[in-house]
Amino acid sequence: MKRRITLHFPREAVHQPITYRLAVEFDIAAKILRAQIAPNQSGTMVVELSGDIDDLKAAEQWLEQQGLGLNRAPGEIQIDPERCVDCGICSSVCPSGALRSTAPTWQLHFDAQRCLVCEQCIPSCPFQAIALVLDPSSASVARSLP
Ligand code: SF4
Ligand code: SF4
Repeated sequence: MKRRITLHFPREAVHQPITYRLAVEFDIAAKILRAQIAPNQSGTMVVELSGDIDDLKAAEQWLEQQGLGLNRAPGEIQIDPERCVDCGICSSVCPSGALRSTAPTWQLHFDAQRCLVCEQCIPSCPFQAIALVLDPSSASVARSLP
């Protein structure tokens, strides 16, 4: 199974070879979706972990023991149809294919099931039509695949 989490690195933990140790010690593949880490500073990394459920649990426990903060509920991406003009820019930066613009209409389609919540699309939109909603049940705008 796959799990998407946000890791918060304290300053003293940024040098750790986290992805290597996850692979070797827990048989977990870690795909880095976004990272903002500088030497001798704290940082944040959004990763998609793939492996067995038991291995994932053990790996997450180990990460917390290393002093990393884990956010397992990074929220949901939502598209505001009132702002979106179907320009397609966001689909060009989406690594998972969750955002697609296809011929002949070139209308933007968002597949929430494929979304990794990497947030790369948010700053790409010139119309601020994309938002990360931390509590999706309270949001009023969304667009799904037809
Ligand atoms: S957050 Fe945006 S760019 Fe990232 S996978 Fe989801 S839709 Fe694509
Ligand atoms: S970049 Fe913004 S306006 Fe353009 S298709 Fe994506 S959400 Fe719509």
